[in-house]
Amino acid sequence: MIDVSRFYFILMDEIKSKLNTSQSIVVLTGAGISAESGIPTFRGQGGLWRNFRPEQLATPEAFEANPQLVWEWYNWRRELLAPISPNPAHYALVEIERQTPQFTLITQNVDGLHGKAGSRNVIEIHGNIWKVKCTQCGSITDNFDVPMQILPACQICDGLLRPNVVWFGEMLPQEELYTSQRAAAECEFMLIIGTSGIVQPAASFGLIAKQSGAYVVEINIERTPLSEVVDRTCIGKASEILTRIMSQ
Ligand code: NAD
Ligand code: ZN
Repeated sequence: MIDVSRFYFILMDEIKSKLNTSQSIVVLTGAGISAESGIPTFRGQGGLWRNFRPEQLATPEAFEANPQLVWEWYNWRRELLAPISPNPAHYALVEIERQTPQFTLITQNVDGLHGKAGSRNVIEIHGNIWKVKCTQCGSITDNFDVPMQILPACQICDGLLRPNVVWFGEMLPQEELYTSQRAAAECEFMLIIGTSGIVQPAASFGLIAKQSGAYVVEINIERTPLSEVVDRTCIGKASEILTRIMSQ
């Protein structure tokens, strides 16, 4: 009979030792890492506002047709996010960064919680809800107002401001994408946390790392399409698994 707890202990030990010896680590996070802070994932329950699905509001077409409605939705999301704190999983990544010579954190999350926790080298490939971008002059600025004034105007050119997040049907910021792909190709160890593995191109980062010879570990509460690709899948909550690994 297989001793499951012993296997689990050996697995945590293996991951910890790879963490300690790797000179370059890339971490990719998705909505799952923020779930334990109380932020619903898009595919989970509790993400709806006035019965709109995110796909109906987070598009350039929706903003063009009704910027007021889209800003009202973002004001609702800002209100939900403002009091929320990072959880032990976010803090574990701050600790890993502190111990690693070359560390890159790529996140699909727009909640800004990695920065709030203290992570430094963060690439927000889907943008950040606490930043706004001018639709006319393109300037990007921090904005923590809750609620935002509707409709918000650019201080430089008076153009209409939009949330600085990547919407459905939009391209990812090219520089961030390129830097992420390069980091994935060059890392020794990749840790993929709380992402469904179906949103491209982030889903391909694990593949790139694997094909380039990295050791790739996934942490998720369930198996995903990425589970077929990675070296190890740890099933469980991000905060619990990361806390276990860090204390190993
Ligand atoms: P997703 O909602 O598609 O998937 C979340 C994944 O996390 C799932 O695989 C789920 O099994 C896993 N998960 C849930 N709770 C977990 C936990 N406690 N520990 C570990 N894993 C857990 O999210 P996605 O793959 O990141 O992509 C969806 C898109 O939605 C992204 O582009 C993102 O920008 C956006 N989004 C962002 C936020 C945020 O900023 N916090 C929230 C919702 C959606
Ligand atoms: Zn402007």
